[in-house]
Amino acid sequence: MEISNSDQQLIDLKPTSHRKIIELVEEAGIDVSDWANFKGGAEKASMNPKYCYEWFFEDKPENITVLNLWFDNCEVLDGVVVQKLNMRQAAEELKGIKKRRAYNMDFSLQNAARLKTAVRVIICDENPKLKKEGEKSTADRRHLDPINWFIKEYDGDGNCILQRGEIAAPYIDQFTLRELEIIQPEKIESTSFVYPRSKAVRDQVLFRAKGSCEHCGEKGFRTNSGALYLESHHIIPLSEEGIDHISNVIALCPNHHREAHFSENASALRTAFLSKVSS
Ligand SMILES: [Zn+2]
Ligand SMILES: [Zn+2]
Repeated sequence: MEISNSDQQLIDLKPTSHRKIIELVEEAGIDVSDWANFKGGAEKASMNPKYCYEWFFEDKPENITVLNLWFDNCEVLDGVVVQKLNMRQAAEELKGIKKRRAYNMDFSLQNAARLKTAVRVIICDENPKLKKEGEKSTADRRHLDPINWFIKEYDGDGNCILQRGEIAAPYIDQFTLRELEIIQPEKIESTSFVYPRSKAVRDQVLFRAKGSCEHCGEKGFRTNSGALYLESHHIIPLSEEGIDHISNVIALCPNHHREAHFSENASALRTAFLSKVSS
């Protein structure tokens, strides 16, 4: 049987080595110098109880959040690796310090969802050889996932879906699709030479358009990634020495983009587009 890409991702995610939490937290870019501030000193910093049992770590100024997640709770949903959790509900069933940890982690998830920040994830797994019958599981194998995660969903009841991968861009154009190799180059452009164009300019234009054709106002369609699709178009073509600047680029629905290139009204459209983007 063929293994799908997402199933393979899940297999690769399973930690195989024994790494200390402190090492992984440091690897994620969080300052761990305070771990040595206890009676065990620097030598036993990795066992500082103030930190080593925590479920998540934060560096607020640097905007880094690291979460501990169990490998066994990861699953593939719609072709991507996710983990569903509800720390608020978990908190209600826990007591003492664990209750506090669960509430804190829930708060951190809420923040990451609100600010749309990427989170780093330490994947934990137990060593089945060390697990004794009837005992609670303890993480023995861990690694820091090199790939970022983000909060895909967080609802009013604390239900949270974490997704492995980068937060999808809200807006996308034909060039981004090509970069992602979603469509093959030969299917999109017939010209043999493509002028280099700035991604920053395209992105600025897409954000200016907010997903609606800047000529007719029609909303672009939603792609698989959730982004709204429009095509970015240089009003005066780069081949005619038009500039690669937001004052010469417009975001169009696919129809109007084709019209801009092939319609008998092309020159009237060019004038209309120029006045649009200058206003
Ligand atoms: Zn349009
Ligand atoms: Zn064009």
